Amino acid sequence: MTKVDTTVRGPEAYGLARRVLDDMEAAGVWPTPVNFELWLHYLGDPEGALGREIRRILAAQEPFSESTSEMLASEYLPRGRLNEEIRDAGRMLDKELSTVATTIANAHKSQVEYGVTLADASGRMDAVESPETLKTLVSTLADATHKAKSQNSALEQQLEHSTREVAKLREHLEQVRRDAMTDALTNLANRKAFDEHLEGSVDAAHATGKALTLAVIDIDHFKRFNDTWGHQTGDQVLRYVASVLGRSARSPRLAARYGGEEFAMIFPDESTAAVDQALKSVLKEIASRALRRRSTNDELGAVTISAGYARLRPEETPSSLLERADAALYASKRAGRNRVTDADQLEQAA
Ligand code: C2E
Repeated sequence: MTKVDTTVRGPEAYGLARRVLDDMEAAGVWPTPVNFELWLHYLGDPEGALGREIRRILAAQEPFSESTSEMLASEYLPRGRLNEEIRDAGRMLDKELSTVATTIANAHKSQVEYGVTLADASGRMDAVESPETLKTLVSTLADATHKAKSQNSALEQQLEHSTREVAKLREHLEQVRRDAMTDALTNLANRKAFDEHLEGSVDAAHATGKALTLAVIDIDHFKRFNDTWGHQTGDQVLRYVASVLGRSARSPRLAARYGGEEFAMIFPDESTAAVDQALKSVLKEIASRALRRRSTNDELGAVTISAGYARLRPEETPSSLLERADAALYASKRAGRNRVTDADQLEQAA
């Protein structure tokens, strides 16, 4: 399945949304939320797998029914895929649990039967008159013991099997969870993971009184770069910047792709000087490399980034922290790019 990724946060997204509605109307497709989302991805990446499939359906004049939309959504939209994976895992877990429940119920039944046989034998023991009767009694007990033993071992095997299946399922769900939190292009944490992590880090910092710094980072002149060299090379630049950020963001730091060409870094419990120094070395490292276009080997020149960071204040919310870091980033842009700005210094100067 092909990953669909469309940036819908940014000024250009309004134009895209308007085109989506026009195009749906022209194609005679109802503007339901699912269709809208499908079209957004389709027009955002017309040559992608989803785009090709939608064009095929329209060209074949197949009806664009609700089930067509659902099928496309579950196949091509990341959210649909995730839901399906979770539903599958739920179904498997359900099946394992009901097998375990049946096995346990059977084992319980056989234990009860075994108990009854033992009690009965012990009652009859007193009345044993001949060796023949004793022999029959012992043989009944041996049979019952044998049956209970084999049922126990079946239970054991079933439980072992189910434990293995559940462990596999957990691993799979963990992978699904990781995928849902990872940006497919850069392998950094995605926006969702970042939002959750920032909220948790802000809460933890308020609770412990420890420092927390948030940096936002943007690739300079990325649009110009994309227009000149094309999307594929643009993607390579994103991957390059992400790889440098990722190397600098060993846990407990976190680096994430925040939007199109925007990244963010969270620095828990570090001094302003340490954060400033880390961002400056990232800046230097990124600018130090002359990139080449893979297809033609053309020199792309160096890529630079701008960054702004803000330190959490008492009782400050994640969105206010983000706003201040953003303001510092834009100050870096205004001051000529390829630099780092500290929001505190910016605010003091103002
Ligand atoms: P990638 O192409 O998957 O490369 C992954 C890593 O393999 C690179 O990490 C680097 O350590 C190594 N590598 C790959 N190709 C070469 C090479 O030709 N020479 C050397 N010395 N090492 C190489 P790195 O450097 O962090 O880059 C991460 C990603 O950034 C790359 O992923 C690629 O997508 C992009 N990138 C980096 N430099 C360039 C470049 O000069 N041109 C293009 N088009 N993309 C680049």
